[in-house]
Amino acid sequence: MSLARHASDPARSRGRRHPEPPAPTRDAFQRDRDRIVHSTAFRRLVYKTQVFLNHEGDLFRTRLTHSLEVAQLGRSIARALRLNEDLVEAVALAHDLGHTPFGHAGQDALNACMTEHGGFEHNLQSLRVVDELEHRYPQYDGLNLSFETREGILKHCSRTNAERIEASEPGGVARRFCDGTQPSLEAQLCNLADEIAYNAHDIDDGVRSGLISIERVSEVGLFDRYRREALAEYPQLQGRRVLYEAIRRMLSAQVYDVIDATRAALEAAAPADADAARRAGPLVLFSEAMRAQSIELKQFLFRNLYRHPRVTQTTDRAQQVVRELFAAYLAGAEEMPDSYAQRAGRHRAVADYIAGMTDRFAMREHERLTGRRWTEE
Ligand code: MG
Repeated sequence: MSLARHASDPARSRGRRHPEPPAPTRDAFQRDRDRIVHSTAFRRLVYKTQVFLNHEGDLFRTRLTHSLEVAQLGRSIARALRLNEDLVEAVALAHDLGHTPFGHAGQDALNACMTEHGGFEHNLQSLRVVDELEHRYPQYDGLNLSFETREGILKHCSRTNAERIEASEPGGVARRFCDGTQPSLEAQLCNLADEIAYNAHDIDDGVRSGLISIERVSEVGLFDRYRREALAEYPQLQGRRVLYEAIRRMLSAQVYDVIDATRAALEAAAPADADAARRAGPLVLFSEAMRAQSIELKQFLFRNLYRHPRVTQTTDRAQQVVRELFAAYLAGAEEMPDSYAQRAGRHRAVADYIAGMTDRFAMREHERLTGRRWTEE
C-alpha cells in the first residue's frame, strides 16, 4: 500500500549528520531501525525497570518489552493511516534508550545530582545515546541515524537545552521546541502509542503484582466499560481472563479512536506533505472523550500504583543507590571505565555512565563501591 502524501518518505529524508551512501536493500528508516536493534543500549533495556524493578519478578514489563509493545501499537496505527511503519518502529524502539536504571526514580535522582551541571532529561539522553554514546562505527561516534528518527526520539526538551542544541545544529532536531512546530506524524504517533501501551500494561502489571485489584481498577470508567462488556459476552469468565479481555478491548478501542480522530484531523488540515503536517499543529490524537478517559486512567495509576507505598519504598532506595554511585564516581573517576574516566567534564561523564547501567549492574556497582547490599538498606 502506498504511503499517504503527508507520511515521512525515506527518499526525501533530511539525511544523516555524517553523509553515507544508501544501503542496497534497505531504505533510510529501515536501516535506522536495524542500527537501533543492534545497539548496546537496546540490549540493556531488557534489564531496566519500567515500573517494577527488574528483580521483583520475571513477568513484569521491562523497558524492552514496553518498547516492543509501543512499536506494535504504533505500527498497527501507522498501517491504517498509511504512515511510515518503519519510521514508527525505529522511533518506538529507541524512545526509551536514555532511561536510567530504576525507572523514573533513577532519572529524578540523576537529575538532582546534575542540577548545577545542565540537569538530566531522559529524552535528551536517548538522543545522546544514538548521537554520541554508542561507539560501534569506525568513522563516527553514535549510530548516525536519519534526521526523522532523531527528531522522533527527542520527544521533550527544556527550552535551555533546545537552544543549546539549536546553536550547534541550526535548523536541526531541537528547532521545533523554539518555533512551536510539531515533529513528523510518525513521531506524534509514537508518543500516543507510548501512552496507550503503558496505561494498559501498568494495569496488567499492577494487578499481577497484587498492588491493585481488578475491583479497584473498575473505578476507572474506560476499564470498567470493557470489563462489563466482556462479562456480558462471557458470563463465566473469571480471574486473569477478565483482566486480559478488558485490557484487550480497551486497547482496541483506543487504537480505533486514534485512527478515526486522526483521519478527521488530517482531512480537515489536508497537509500537502510531511513538512506541512509539521506546521499544522498536533494531528495524531485521541477524540476529546477518549482523551478525558485516558487522563482518568493515568490519574488512577498515579494514585494507586506509582505512589503505592511498596513502589515508593523501592523508589527511595533506588534514588539512594544512584546518589551514592554518583558521589563515588565523582570522587574516584578511576572506578569508571577509561572511556568515561578520561573524558573532559566529569559530571556529564558520570551521568552518562550511570544512565547506561542496567538495574542489576547499578546494584552490583553500588555494593562494590559502598560495601552495602541493596537488601540490607
Ligand atoms: Mg515509553
